[in-house]
Amino acid sequence: MSSQQEPSFRESVDIMFSRAVALMDLPPGLEEKIRVCNATYTVRFGVRLRGQVQTFTGYRSVHSEHMEPVKGGIRYSLGVNQDEVEALAALMTYKCSLVEAPFGGSKGGLCIDPREYDEQELELITRRFAYELAKRDLIHPSQNVPAPDMGTGEREMAWMADQYARMNTTDINARACVTGKPINAGGIQGRTEATGRGVQYALQEFFRHPEDMKAAGLTGTLDGKRVIVQGLGNVGYHAAKFLQEEDGCLVTGIIERDGALFNPDGLDVEKIRNWLMKHGGITGYPDATHFEEGGKVMEEDCDILIPAALEGVINMGNADRIKAPLIIEAANGPVTAGADEILQKKGTVIIPDMYANAGGVTVSYFEWVKNLSHIRFGRMQRRQEESRHQLVVDELERLSAEKDLDWQLSPDFKEKYLRGAGELELVRSGLDDTMRTAYQSMRDVWHSRADVPDLRTAAYLVAIGKVAASYRAKGL
Ligand code: GLU
Repeated sequence: MSSQQEPSFRESVDIMFSRAVALMDLPPGLEEKIRVCNATYTVRFGVRLRGQVQTFTGYRSVHSEHMEPVKGGIRYSLGVNQDEVEALAALMTYKCSLVEAPFGGSKGGLCIDPREYDEQELELITRRFAYELAKRDLIHPSQNVPAPDMGTGEREMAWMADQYARMNTTDINARACVTGKPINAGGIQGRTEATGRGVQYALQEFFRHPEDMKAAGLTGTLDGKRVIVQGLGNVGYHAAKFLQEEDGCLVTGIIERDGALFNPDGLDVEKIRNWLMKHGGITGYPDATHFEEGGKVMEEDCDILIPAALEGVINMGNADRIKAPLIIEAANGPVTAGADEILQKKGTVIIPDMYANAGGVTVSYFEWVKNLSHIRFGRMQRRQEESRHQLVVDELERLSAEKDLDWQLSPDFKEKYLRGAGELELVRSGLDDTMRTAYQSMRDVWHSRADVPDLRTAAYLVAIGKVAASYRAKGL
């Protein structure tokens, strides 16, 4: 970017989109059709709280309806505004397209600090917001399916789903109107941690490609890699936890609202999360050095930086001081278009948001399918699979005994082989497959075209290509 002005989040998404379409050969006019947000609904509603009526402002933006329903989270934050919601809705379109979740893109937001309200008040506010959206089919199993985002979780999704069900008492598919619900309200195993799990699977896939690791100047495996996480919310926490517990990563820095914790020998993610939940911040946590100015810790030496909270945290003001050779965007839009250019020049590899955090919507897709099929994944096959495996094990053991062979199946193998896949195993397998396939589609473009400089442009090319194909198939 030539100007020194920091682009807004919305402008950043536009700039990144433009960079990609400049490399494509789209029919005239289609580029603009894909770029623009189809519609954004703004609602202001009042709720009687603490003896007076309080007015709230909410949005639901629909970016592209090339596939329906449209999909995307609802965020509760004071930073919510129309531009932000529209940028996020656009990212949802590209994200769904890239990971082949059959949805258009949408996003919603309510301008509120949820920490200011108790549970009962939040329920009243959420139900009223859901009522306003459902009334206009902006919550609907076949039209528009929200999910959790920053500041919301399964509790809010359960209220929204129930609100929709009350308004549509004969809709047999009512549960599919929202995803990210608790299990006992029609949710699916593995949705809560899905985005963090997706970040882990994305990194595992990246580390399967020596050529890509080389581009970031990294070698070896994930084992022992130093990781700094910005934001220990649902996404950052799960990503950090899985990488630490299962892949041997060393989480050296954690940045939160009230500063950062740093320990070159590794932090205990679980203990810090518990502290954060109990105290509302990380201040006072005993087993690490605390830095008031959290953002500085993003600039520490590490192998992998995971921004997992807000947009725009890596910007033109700090990009040249970021030392991490690999950034994986667990949040939406954490790197501005200006920063992106600076980092690219430095040779930093960025695994882009539309891919890196697509685990959430991928498992949302599974939940939606589960709700529409009215049956839990694995319910029909699990025991049948187990009995077929049992047959093989019995036969092997019979042969062994008959031939008097001196070998045995190890108990560990037997235990693993005999266990049929339940819902959680199937969700993980589907998510892993999605993350691997989508990565490969991006890297194929990245490596096969000399004019594609990075994974983000490649991701946009793949995603926009699929959206364009779907518009063309409709005759547009
Ligand atoms: N809010 C999440 C995202 O930004 C999940 C969306 C969904 O599951 O529909 O991807």
